Amino acid sequence: MSDEILSLIYTFSRKFNDPNTNLAFEPKNKNISAVFKNGNVNVALSVSSKNDEPYKDISRLLRKNIEQIPGVLSVNIIITSNTKIKNDFEKKFQIDAKNIIAIASGKGGVGKSTFAVNLSVALQSLGMRVGLLDADIYGPSIPRMIGFGKKPEMNSDKKLIPIENYNLKCMSIGFILEDDAPTIWRGPMVMKALEQMFNGVDWGKLDYLIIDLPPGTGDAQLTLAQSSKLSGSIIVSTPQDVALADARKGINMFKKVNVDILGIVENMSYFICDNCNEQHFIFSKDGAKKEAEKFKVPFLGNIPIDKRLREQSDEGIPACIDNPDGEISKQFITIAKELNQRL
Ligand code: ADP
Repeated sequence: MSDEILSLIYTFSRKFNDPNTNLAFEPKNKNISAVFKNGNVNVALSVSSKNDEPYKDISRLLRKNIEQIPGVLSVNIIITSNTKIKNDFEKKFQIDAKNIIAIASGKGGVGKSTFAVNLSVALQSLGMRVGLLDADIYGPSIPRMIGFGKKPEMNSDKKLIPIENYNLKCMSIGFILEDDAPTIWRGPMVMKALEQMFNGVDWGKLDYLIIDLPPGTGDAQLTLAQSSKLSGSIIVSTPQDVALADARKGINMFKKVNVDILGIVENMSYFICDNCNEQHFIFSKDGAKKEAEKFKVPFLGNIPIDKRLREQSDEGIPACIDNPDGEISKQFITIAKELNQRL
């Protein structure tokens, strides 16, 4: 269903040529990206000239067409200018971090936050100053996972002071969400909330800012992905086809907005049975690894299903703190070392 709608969107968009390059707005054109999720369409048109007027006409006509597609509930078209975005982000998303890494996933519940927390702790154990930003507007969970429930306080400059545990500085978008926050987030709202998470927080100097993105490929992901400051993204997926299909959309989104994909991690790869001590590949085998090969992006490793890992998250003590010498912690540390060497 969503693939059909996406292909209909491109049927309409390819009727228009990019006023600047004269190339049709079709899927292989890097200056358009479209995503469809839960009835909502998000289209980004990237403008490489300063004059965005002709794009506004195209955006209006395109919206009219897309709104007619049965199954489409809302259409959001954003016109983004490479130069403008760069300036905007430099102004609005100020942070003194050497590297900013976004942790993404196509679906919720695949272990993205668990990975973000443990990667952060692993990087910290290598002597890095690490900030962890929970930007998951749909289910912020990082404060709980690092065992911190209190709301952050403000400093004298009216900036939020990150909560701190295990030498990690952490801030969650959950702290600024109202209880009745809308389930559909529009571009400008996401932009404003994220801006507050950067500019409105006293992060200090960081070597790494790890961002736990919301699952999927909506406005929040696009907004952040288009930040010129992002060093790259990591995609977390489970090995089965349904999860990989969504992860693929994430890969394509980052590619379209020219964000380096630092790698794919396969989580819940297998289960080691207490009785027979054998590996059981519950969600099929090597799915994410094959996907990484297909897309020619690094495969960072596979993490098994582990009851203790789940308990550690619930208890607010990340695996890399609770049992730093355990097999799973070692895997997180290996990934952290590899990234640290590459960046
Ligand atoms: P996401 O951020 O993708 O929504 P979470 O990191 O919140 O996913 O993980 C969802 C649930 O699965 C949590 O209860 C977490 O503790 C558990 N979990 C994640 N990875 C594993 C794993 N490898 N083994 C066991 N439980 C896991």
